[in-house]
Amino acid sequence: MKNIAIIGAGMSGITAARTLIKAGHQVTVFEKSLATSGRMATRSTLLGNFDHGTQYFTVRDPRFALAIKSVPGTQELIKPWSVTSVRVLDAQGSVLEAARPPREPHFVAKPGMSSLVEHWSSPIKSKHLLLDALVNSIQVDPKNKNRWLIKTSSKNGALKNHPGFDHVIMAIPAPQIVELLMNSAPKIQDSGFIKPLKDVEIGPCWTLMIAFPQASQPGLAHLGPQWNAAKSTHHRIAWLSRESSKPARGTIERWTIQANTTWSSEHLNDDPSRITAKLLKGFSELTGIYAEPGRTELHRWLYAKTLKPLGQPYLWDAQLGVGTCGDWHIGHRVEDAFVSGLSLALAI
Ligand SMILES: Cc1cc2nc3c(=O)[nH]c(=O)nc-3n(C[C@H](O)[C@H](O)[C@H](O)COP(=O)(O)OP(=O)(O)OC[C@H]3O[C@@H](n4cnc5c(N)ncnc54)[C@H](O)[C@@H]3O)c2cc1C
Repeated sequence: MKNIAIIGAGMSGITAARTLIKAGHQVTVFEKSLATSGRMATRSTLLGNFDHGTQYFTVRDPRFALAIKSVPGTQELIKPWSVTSVRVLDAQGSVLEAARPPREPHFVAKPGMSSLVEHWSSPIKSKHLLLDALVNSIQVDPKNKNRWLIKTSSKNGALKNHPGFDHVIMAIPAPQIVELLMNSAPKIQDSGFIKPLKDVEIGPCWTLMIAFPQASQPGLAHLGPQWNAAKSTHHRIAWLSRESSKPARGTIERWTIQANTTWSSEHLNDDPSRITAKLLKGFSELTGIYAEPGRTELHRWLYAKTLKPLGQPYLWDAQLGVGTCGDWHIGHRVEDAFVSGLSLALAI
């Protein structure tokens, strides 16, 4: 039995944790946020929820399908979203490609996208999960040179040392691993671990969430177009979806608008009010909805979508007892994160 630290409670970290616990190991997951799920995120507002990270996921790998089928309660949580008609729009909102027959089902979790990882982490929550625990560095344990000590801080500034780990898994985006390792033991820095991570590219994404409470008035089913989700070639916007069309989401008309990687990169440090105005303008151009939203929220994802993956499902240095997992090893999808976390745990 090994004592294993996992940094990050997204899909990959929680998948690795569940697998290693099942194999009899002692596991502690460190998560900087106050909740699990990472980029499979759900924002709760008074006007309803928004999935401002992952929009939907697909199930192609038989191991992911098996996990969904066999983890009790998961099938009830997962619903196909009838986004069967993801339109492709041109810059003015005209439909270039209509209602393609779906190649595969698009799934969402209910009541929000974060519910899947929340559900999978619930059995390990009390004994194995530390929330509000930002890992700042990984050091050699002074009491045992073959073990690792994890240093964390919480939002109230409290610092804590967690000694005695045989292994450490970093289940966070590659650039954040590089940053973490720069503050960590020279033993890891000198191991050549960092070099391949520097080649990985992950692009940002500005995401706007808007709600139109006026559209839930009697007789007004929704505003604007008949479709519920679209990819777009607009110079700012890559994706729009009507949140209120997803199962179990509430009726107030809500949209999530995601900027494309190029525009997000070019405007990464712009004033949020300017970003909101620009994305709203693009939204109106694409949907024909010019009504004033009752609520707007903006989120900046610094590391949203893998542009250049590592090309292998995980990294594992058995001598150091240090490994990495996460979607960016092999792709940019939820399923890639699952496969990566599972593959690393099985290798260990
Ligand atoms: C805008 C957007 C849209 C997307 N759309 C889709 C989609 O439609 N379909 C799809 O399949 N995928 C989509 N994805 C990708 C999908 O969300 C990811 O593939 C998946 O969630 C990645 O999981 P992960 O475990 O690898 O990483 P993450 O979910 O990023 O998990 C990492 C976790 O580590 C935590 N963390 C980071 N640093 C530290 C630290 N130092 N200490 C402690 N904790 C730390 C973070 O808070 C986070 O919880 C989208 C992502 C974004 C951002």
